Amino acid sequence: MKVSSISNFSYSGCKNSAADYKAAKSVSKSENMHSVNNSSSLLVDKNYNSVLVKSNPAFKASVPSKVLELGKQIPLADRVASLFQVFKHEEIILVSKTLKEAQSALKNSYKSANQLFRRAFFIPDDNVGGTLAFIKHAQGDTELWNVNKDMMFVNKDYLKTNETGYILAGDTIKLNDFIMEIKDAPKANLSLVRHTFSTILDFNKEVKPVIEKQNLKSIMSMAKEETNKPQPVMFKDVGGQEKAIDILKKGILYPLKYPQAYNNTIANHGALMYGPPGTGKTRLALALSNEAGVNFVKLNGLEMESKWVGESEENWRKLFQLAREEQPSIIFIDEFDAVAKARGGQDVYGDKVVNQILTLMSDLEKEGDQVVVIAATNRKDIIDSAILRSGRFTLHIPVELPDEKGLQTILGIHMKNTAIDLDLDIAKLAKELYQKKATGSDVPALLTGAQTNAYERCGIHKKMDEGTFVPEDLDAVKITKEDFDKAVQELFGQQKTRKPIGYTNYNKN
Ligand code: ADP
Repeated sequence: MKVSSISNFSYSGCKNSAADYKAAKSVSKSENMHSVNNSSSLLVDKNYNSVLVKSNPAFKASVPSKVLELGKQIPLADRVASLFQVFKHEEIILVSKTLKEAQSALKNSYKSANQLFRRAFFIPDDNVGGTLAFIKHAQGDTELWNVNKDMMFVNKDYLKTNETGYILAGDTIKLNDFIMEIKDAPKANLSLVRHTFSTILDFNKEVKPVIEKQNLKSIMSMAKEETNKPQPVMFKDVGGQEKAIDILKKGILYPLKYPQAYNNTIANHGALMYGPPGTGKTRLALALSNEAGVNFVKLNGLEMESKWVGESEENWRKLFQLAREEQPSIIFIDEFDAVAKARGGQDVYGDKVVNQILTLMSDLEKEGDQVVVIAATNRKDIIDSAILRSGRFTLHIPVELPDEKGLQTILGIHMKNTAIDLDLDIAKLAKELYQKKATGSDVPALLTGAQTNAYERCGIHKKMDEGTFVPEDLDAVKITKEDFDKAVQELFGQQKTRKPIGYTNYNKN
């Protein structure tokens, strides 16, 4: 807390004792007098309230009632000072554009208050640019409570969100562009007209329930967001595939996102991604659809083959029809080789499907549909050459095993929310994984293994067995180098440098 330097000033910060504050009081007066007399200071315009009110064209708009509208012509510092004369401990003065705004601000800070409130005074004001909240200390001193997201200033010192600080007459408080000098008494006696600029509310009946309702609402919407909306995968979440991302951006993303720049024409209705399994082809296609904000339809070629025997062509037609109705959209076909492998003219059924797909893709082009087909395969070598020659899959995108730097990026992506021991050398781990020809999908598998080892080492599994586990137990768990070493052994075997299954062209050696 920034208190020690502040005790020379009138404001002494929320953690200062009342005694500190009293001692500082005498010094602070003269400091403040000094700043008030300095006409070049930002904090000195004693008439700022009237100036602000008159010059603000929005002054007449959005006020709660005609009566309170009248009261706004009295400088705010005087209106607040008039309430200072009557307000007591367990009461709060709120100044904001609307009561709703004040309640919203309070909902975030209310729990941090270390006193209960009985009454609230509300002063509407169009210029505060947030909410001013004044509370009374048990010993009778007045405190400013920052219930805003932005920082507040008291003279040269600041109050962060939820902090309170003592204020005295002569202090200047500042919230964004709004400034006000604290007075302990208004220029004229306003006791008879207080009702024209403030309303008194029963805090427990009129303020607290609204705050609690708002809190519940925001917790519920947060929970909803948490459960319904996992963070969508974007290009930044795919590591070590910069070349593929570059082709996807220029060939597909930008034409979908900025059609004006491409004559409203999609040049590439088809792309073929090829490379070893687990290198991120599916992830890339998903990220592409999220980046473009278009619908994503994922299909598995192998499943299609087994499910749709006999009625396959008709189903492909229906699928494309759906994607056209939902356009802009991306159809992603994984394991494309299962439907599109060369059959040497013997397998009439297979040829028919290939022809059907090519016809449907050609229709997309003719109709100028915003539909893109992305196919992925580990076996480009067995794909029917009619497909490759057709000119329908205009982009051929290699998705290779990640290099050392790529693996380091992928480790970073997947470790984002994991508690890792600081001694772990990620570059060294990436190097080791590279030597073992690791794929992108090995990384989350490795992390899961390392986490399991850490849980075992730290007795988390034991607690789970005994039913004594609480989430706080995880605070002490950090995944160490040893946990990773063990997981690497488990995943790759001792001597093993794996070859990706079913893949020949992209091995590094
Ligand atoms: P593919 O389609 O090439 O077989 P996937 O995209 O299905 O590979 O990868 C499986 C999982 O492995 C992904 O969901 C992701 O968690 C991880 N993964 C694979 N490659 C990458 C990568 N390049 N960057 C980040 N994560 C990756």
